[in-house]
Amino acid sequence: MPKRATKGGRGLPEALAGISGADNVFSEPSRLEEYSEDMAGFRATPAVVVRPSSEDEVRRIVALAGKRRVPIVPRGAGSSLTGAAVTKGAIILDMRRMDSVLKVDTVNWYARAQAGITLEDLNKRLAKEGFFFPPDPASSSLCTVGGAVAEGSGGLRCVKYGTVKDWVVALRVVLPNGRVSNFGEPLAKNRAGFDLVHLMVGSEGTLGVVTEAWLKIIPIPKATPKRLLITYGDWRSASDAICQLRASRIMPHIFEFLDRETIQAVNAHLDTKQDEAEATLIVDIEEDSLAEALETFKRNKPGKIVVAKDAAEAEAFYHIRSMAYLAIRGLGKAVQVEDIAVPVDRLGEYMAKVKETASRHGLRILVNGHAGDGNVHPVILYDEQDRASRAAAHRAFEEICRYGISIGGSVTGEHGIGVQKAKLLREQLEAHEGKEALRLMKEIKKLFDPDGIMNPGKYVEAA
Ligand SMILES: Cc1cc2nc3c(=O)[nH]c(=O)nc-3n(C[C@H](O)[C@H](O)[C@H](O)COP(=O)(O)OP(=O)(O)OC[C@H]3O[C@@H](n4cnc5c(N)ncnc54)[C@H](O)[C@@H]3O)c2cc1C
Repeated sequence: MPKRATKGGRGLPEALAGISGADNVFSEPSRLEEYSEDMAGFRATPAVVVRPSSEDEVRRIVALAGKRRVPIVPRGAGSSLTGAAVTKGAIILDMRRMDSVLKVDTVNWYARAQAGITLEDLNKRLAKEGFFFPPDPASSSLCTVGGAVAEGSGGLRCVKYGTVKDWVVALRVVLPNGRVSNFGEPLAKNRAGFDLVHLMVGSEGTLGVVTEAWLKIIPIPKATPKRLLITYGDWRSASDAICQLRASRIMPHIFEFLDRETIQAVNAHLDTKQDEAEATLIVDIEEDSLAEALETFKRNKPGKIVVAKDAAEAEAFYHIRSMAYLAIRGLGKAVQVEDIAVPVDRLGEYMAKVKETASRHGLRILVNGHAGDGNVHPVILYDEQDRASRAAAHRAFEEICRYGISIGGSVTGEHGIGVQKAKLLREQLEAHEGKEALRLMKEIKKLFDPDGIMNPGKYVEAA
């Protein structure tokens, strides 16, 4: 274990104000509240928040944290769902003032952006040049480049384009020792040295602070794919259709699913009237594969198949999926959000296991996710005030994670580990990779952060 960061010392807000200005430092309880919770409800109150405007300020703040041995946590929008962005007694480094696009290179196909810009704003800027950055978490309007890199985020288009890790070529990082380094190069090909870029991707703010990223970009496709909404009365038919579509070598642009209870929550939240079928699929298919795809969906006895007639209807289908989590939060219950990735051909079996687990524990578990890459998001609802309900939710959470591991899956496809899944990370690594992989990961953490100041007590360190 790295040494534990402990004390802040007196005058920490004043010292931070000396770096970023008094207007950009606050420690009053009312203003800390926003930074005390992530979007799944994990809570921990920091000591102070600072909002740097430049890399030099970040460097000086990290050096100060190191000198005083205070935990420091880089933060974007706090939209993560595992407790990764909240730490008791920490300096929170709110990166959102650093939100510039520094370069869009339309020949070498990369964008250089500061860490605090949202993915949506980045894509608006790129669209002016006819380009886009493909990974698209459903939280793109909120989440930042730095947060998406640090979480290795995924999203709806990942079935075709992969996750954030496939799109980062270089980073600028402030290390826990207060030094600044470039990792990688903005090149299409480069294999010089160990791949420190991809060590940072998915490191959850535990190895350093990303200040800038060079991200691959590609032209916006000339043809817009057709968007389909398909319903099935049972999960076996839906999962057979998913597997057959993949076996027929059709590559969707997005391929999403929602269960009955999620559609019910969305209908209530958006005041819509979508069919509340057992399984709903939303899929984008290129025109030249449309006939074959429709054939595949029809073969599995759908309830209905709708091809969006125009851009507005296509957007409405997308909205159903992208609003799913917020609709579920709107039900007003405490949640445990899951993020299991299973082999696509085990998806139907996994759905059956989730439903069986819910009924055995007397819980509601709503499920949505990314059908095309086997990434399932069960959301367990429970009553926070009721000890039995909390315990049942926790047992169900562990059981469905462990079942995922047992069928060759991962406990996280995109949301990461944070504090939520540290124990399960250990179980997965030991089951699939052996003990050595985790030992090396812990050594890497110590090498980067010997004093244990950078987002401590989480992820690999806690596993
Ligand atoms: C409605 C909703 C939908 C979502 N949909 C998806 C989805 O489709 N796919 C998906 O993958 N996730 C999804 N998420 C989860 C979340 O939005 C992503 O993980 C997102 O990338 C987090 O970005 P953020 O800026 O909010 O980071 P934060 O939550 O602020 O931070 C997340 C982690 O990154 C670290 N970090 C932040 N900035 C930096 C930096 N500059 N340098 C180093 N570390 C940093 C933090 O310390 C923390 O450990 C969703 C969340 C919500 C609420």
